[in-house]
Amino acid sequence: MSWLAPELTRRLASRAAGNRYRHRVIRETGPGAEVQINGQRYVDFSSNDYLGLACHPRVVAAFQRGAERYGVGSGASALVSGYCRAHARLEEDLAVFTGRPRALVFSSGYLANLAVVTTLAGRRDTLIADRFNHASLIDAALLSRARLLRYPHRDTLALERRLQATEGSRRLVVTESLFSMDGDLAPLGRIAALCEHYHAALVVDEAHAIGVLGPGGQGSLAELGLGSEVVPVQIGTFGKALGGLGAFVAGSEDLIETMIQDARSYRYTTALAPAIAEAVREALVLARTESWRREHLRSLIAAFQGGLSEIGIPKSDRRSPIQALVFGEDDSVLEAAERLRRRGLFVAAIRPPTVPIGSARLRVSLTAAHTEGQVTRLVEALAELRGGSS
Ligand SMILES: *Cc1c(COP(=O)(O)O)cnc(C)c1O
Repeated sequence: MSWLAPELTRRLASRAAGNRYRHRVIRETGPGAEVQINGQRYVDFSSNDYLGLACHPRVVAAFQRGAERYGVGSGASALVSGYCRAHARLEEDLAVFTGRPRALVFSSGYLANLAVVTTLAGRRDTLIADRFNHASLIDAALLSRARLLRYPHRDTLALERRLQATEGSRRLVVTESLFSMDGDLAPLGRIAALCEHYHAALVVDEAHAIGVLGPGGQGSLAELGLGSEVVPVQIGTFGKALGGLGAFVAGSEDLIETMIQDARSYRYTTALAPAIAEAVREALVLARTESWRREHLRSLIAAFQGGLSEIGIPKSDRRSPIQALVFGEDDSVLEAAERLRRRGLFVAAIRPPTVPIGSARLRVSLTAAHTEGQVTRLVEALAELRGGSS
């Protein structure tokens, strides 16, 4: 026997001992306000389907039409023959949606982030990143072999010190706009001004902001008027508010051409399913035109935060569909999630290493598919948890 089998046994045992063992649940319905998981019905506060588009009949119909025309798989990578009319149209739509010269579609956000960072930074360059950036951005940094400097979350003074300390090298500053696990916003105006002053290039991952923030759901950069000259690279994903799968990078003509030529995670993977591209095009139309979805979401966020204030629980940004309730210890957050499940409420318990040790939390995500009554039920259940009764 090789070393492998005993090593796997040891590793799994240590996971279990540390309360870090992950179990997948089996969902039997599409994402939505109500879901069935392992045979039980729940109100779901765990999905990133912020606008409630994943199961929208028009999005589903676009997907079906796409599958009839193009089949299921794209058949090849984009540079061989996997790139279809559907992808080309989606890229045109995204350029209009983001107000940027061009966009490039990827099979996932993880791959888009690998592409951006490894294409734009190499061994002699410096990456300066918010400490709470998504794991895909950290993996991308390691793969790029650039020097990686991280700054404390949202701390622009610390960012400036790192910019000062690295003058003379090429700097790429990378941040999310709406942070996925804390639901807070990066101070993008200040970050963009620092990058301009120190001649650093800025990359903003808008995975959670696309569809949710900005005029027509265009994201934080559009809201702040930060175009391609100031923030050359915008990343967005289709798997969150757009209810699909895949991602895009938007920026200048030369940025997109460079990605097509050089990004290994673009070339060496099968192109996104064209039917998904068709579904995302429809979702973009709904996201842009049905602003009532954003308005309803905003009113649910306000209702949830109002409820939390009454029971004295601190809350995330008032514009964020992601509301993080930090418990601290892993056991206590697991117990809280379990008690909510017993009440028919499904909320994700997020533990290290996804978040820093000692900051385990419930991550409540609100969507336009929820009703105010469902949000009230959650607030009441949280109040009971607080009171210690079960
Ligand atoms: C979800 C997410 C990604 C990854 O996107 P996928 O399409 O799910 O691979 C990247 N960045 C951030 C900030 C995310 O939240």
